Amino acid sequence: MKTTPDLLNGEIDADGMNIIVPGSVSVDKKSGWNKGGRLPVSLFVAAVEQAPVAISITDKKANILYVNKAFSKVTGYKPDEILGENESKLSDKCTPRQVYYDLWHTISRKEVWHGCLINRRKQGERYLADLTIAPMLDEHGTITHYIGMHRDVTQAHHADQQVINQKQLIESVINTSPVAMVVLDNENRIVLDNQMYKMLISELGHPEPALFFMDALQLDMGDLWARPDDSAQHRLGFNNREIRVEGIGRRGTRWFSCSGNWFSESDTDADSFFSKQAKEYLLLSINDISLIRRQQEKIHIQALNSLLAEEEHMRSIRETLLGAMHQIRQPLNQINAAIQIMAQRKDTQNQPLKELLSQVQEMGEETLATLQRCVPEIPEAAVTSVNLNQLLHEVMLLYSQKFLANGVVVDWMPNPVLPSVLGAENKLRMMFKQLIDNAINAMNRAGSNDRMIKIGTSVERDWVKVTVADTGPGIPVNHRSKVFEPFFTTQQTLGSSQSGMGLVMVREIVNQHSGMIEIDPAYLAGCCFQISFPIKQSSTRVNIHE
Ligand code: FAD
Repeated sequence: MKTTPDLLNGEIDADGMNIIVPGSVSVDKKSGWNKGGRLPVSLFVAAVEQAPVAISITDKKANILYVNKAFSKVTGYKPDEILGENESKLSDKCTPRQVYYDLWHTISRKEVWHGCLINRRKQGERYLADLTIAPMLDEHGTITHYIGMHRDVTQAHHADQQVINQKQLIESVINTSPVAMVVLDNENRIVLDNQMYKMLISELGHPEPALFFMDALQLDMGDLWARPDDSAQHRLGFNNREIRVEGIGRRGTRWFSCSGNWFSESDTDADSFFSKQAKEYLLLSINDISLIRRQQEKIHIQALNSLLAEEEHMRSIRETLLGAMHQIRQPLNQINAAIQIMAQRKDTQNQPLKELLSQVQEMGEETLATLQRCVPEIPEAAVTSVNLNQLLHEVMLLYSQKFLANGVVVDWMPNPVLPSVLGAENKLRMMFKQLIDNAINAMNRAGSNDRMIKIGTSVERDWVKVTVADTGPGIPVNHRSKVFEPFFTTQQTLGSSQSGMGLVMVREIVNQHSGMIEIDPAYLAGCCFQISFPIKQSSTRVNIHE
């Protein structure tokens, strides 16, 4: 086939050996390089012939005049089998008519058309052709030929489609998941979420619940949340971290189990083509477990009721015995002092009395030892991660009957989300029960009309603070330090249920939890205890022993 100069948008020189192409450097066949804008025709022919893209040149009706080697390789047709045929011979006849219409409409307007067609090889196999057709014009701007260039993109399309299918599959799985899911980038921007997550937005009334949960998780996990050193591939994930949310939305207290997985994705920007860069993302799953927690709470409260009744019984036996031992210890100490004095005076006259006193002392010590043996052991308390909102809520449920019976109104003001503290649940429960008991007794004693107990929680720096305030008579200033001493009671009536050991036990438990307790001097409406516990950190130590 003879290639015409205007076909290649250049001019042939006088001897017919070179093509003058504007903007090119040519090689002259006779005198060598740099003749200025001349290239041998044979070079153009070879370039088209050897190009790794299937190239065909047609007349204005798409009858094929030329095909290169790659064309034969892709279509299976040798030049002598296809030259003179129409390009439609390649058609699998399943490309929509509209596509051909668009193709012809474009190229006949002297524009380049680019698109995909379904072709059939000589052997009958279908393939997807990524085709570009360009019109070729003569010096008057009239279309003389068309050049078509195509590649078999069946496999690339297959791979692309697979990626799209996978993405759709993942999106539909994520969307139909009953768990709220959200993907955040390393600047905490939401890059993907699902239907359940969108529902959380309206239910919790928070514009971006993920950020709310991230704050709560960071507070709860402390050091564990922080990024490990740079040698690690990416941050460690976390599983089933429970977040209790107070009084948000219409459904009151809600429980969520949160899991997080960090993953990295290769950057798709051009600058990271050779030097791979990765972006880190967090997949956060937020599972609403409120229903199951509420059911568990009911069963738990029933079990707690009997457990606490038993513990209270044990404690009252302990306190009674310890009180009795305290009562016996005082005269015994006096007897002991008398014996010592007699011994120092070498008083032989009162020898029988001395012996009697010694006998009494001995018997007293034996009685004390017997009583000591009868003091019931309190079982070792397990130290766990405790959410004080949860624990106080349980105590209030346990007391609901008592509150009703005593006409007490409870004002519950929890911090919406509370980090955990380390502690022995039973002990803490006993402690709060004691404070509530004291409050009810004080209000009953004073015959207060407005009987209200305000229980609140808050977070102050690294501490969780609990306040238990009542509208009773309060504790006089001069008694405030004494109330924590053993057997001290502001209650004058003898035979009262108060032994003066309750607040001793409260302070002991607070101390065991490395906490602090004080009576708020600014609270004038009654008595207000403020108890603070350190937020659980990986370094927090709690020594619970009787
Ligand atoms: P056809 O009767 O050929 O054409 C269908 C419709 O196309 C017509 O109704 C009309 O609207 C339009 N049309 C056809 N010819 C013209 C024309 N001369 N001027 C204006 N409109 C016209 N097709 C493939 O399937 N695979 C290919 O790889 C392929 N490569 C091509 C490469 C080049 C350079 C060119 C110019 C065309 C190529 N074609 C290719 C298109 C091909 O020529 C056919 O138009 C197409 O295959 C449809 O064939 P058909 O027999 O079904 O319908």
